[in-house]
Amino acid sequence: QVKQIGRNCLHFFDQDMQLALEQRVELEALLRNAIPEQLRLHYQPQLDAQGQLVGAEVLVRWQDPHKGLISPAQFIPLAEASGLILPMGQWILHSACEQLARWQQEPLLQQLSLSVNVSPKQFQQANFVNQVLEALSATGADPTRLKLEITESLLFNDLERVTKTMTELKSHGIRISLDDFGTGFSSLSYLKQLPVDELKIDQSFVRSLETDDSDAAIVRTIITLGQSLGVEVIAEGVETEIARDLLIAQGCHRFQGFYFAKPMPLKELERWWSQAGQ
Ligand code: C2E
Ligand code: CA
Ligand code: CA
Ligand code: CA
Repeated sequence: QVKQIGRNCLHFFDQDMQLALEQRVELEALLRNAIPEQLRLHYQPQLDAQGQLVGAEVLVRWQDPHKGLISPAQFIPLAEASGLILPMGQWILHSACEQLARWQQEPLLQQLSLSVNVSPKQFQQANFVNQVLEALSATGADPTRLKLEITESLLFNDLERVTKTMTELKSHGIRISLDDFGTGFSSLSYLKQLPVDELKIDQSFVRSLETDDSDAAIVRTIITLGQSLGVEVIAEGVETEIARDLLIAQGCHRFQGFYFAKPMPLKELERWWSQAGQ
């Protein structure tokens, strides 16, 4: 009898696996079909210590006709695993540059930077630099206002090639930000030789800044590190006034988080900054 139960369990397990696989395949087909018509860009403001708007981060959403707005946490991993991140990423980059070019027509918005997330797979394509340059020249966007956010996990790969790509991007004025900084294992000696412009403190540290002493110590260390390397430091996931004040006291002057504003569609963003008096 034990044997029979064992066999049944195995059977259920198989069914679960089968179901998960089928759902994945189905979602992938839906996603493939969704690019780019059902993709939406949201923008989250970035501010300085005086509360002035300095830029925004582009965050993608999937507007499914039946399921509604789907969070990137639910489809970016699938897009990465399936390779769909490549056409998706290219569309995001192009659309972001289009927006950047429009802002550059407006005197009050000319100085804004626009941060775009780039997945490791996308960054490692042989023609990635060309893709970025094409998006810039097709739209007329200013390369020095474009910031590419990459994660530390990229640094595990061929560091020499990654450095070369970054250097090439930088030679065109494009800026690089290390996203989710502090969660990976990038060694300090790597950091010294990488041509990055910005460290983005991961929100997991920022959110518990007020309550967790070791997270506060990590945040302090990253800020000091940025200062000694001469790179900008921005904190993401700033949810309270206390967190912002602690960050300012420690020498961080760039913020992004729900305390200031959530990611929002363009229309809302425009309303937000006209109200904020920008
Ligand atoms: P991320 O790049 O670390 O983006 C920051 C995430 O934190 C965003 O989630 C944002 O909505 C959220 N966030 C911002 N401020 C706060 C805050 O104060 N509190 C809390 N709790 N959360 C905050 P979102 O938009 O769901 O994006 C999740 C992740 O999906 C992103 O993490 C990024 O890794 C990925 N992603 C989003 N858009 C793109 C894209 O265009 N391309 C690629 N490759 N990945 C993207
Ligand atoms: Ca990011
Ligand atoms: Ca991040
Ligand atoms: Ca993240």
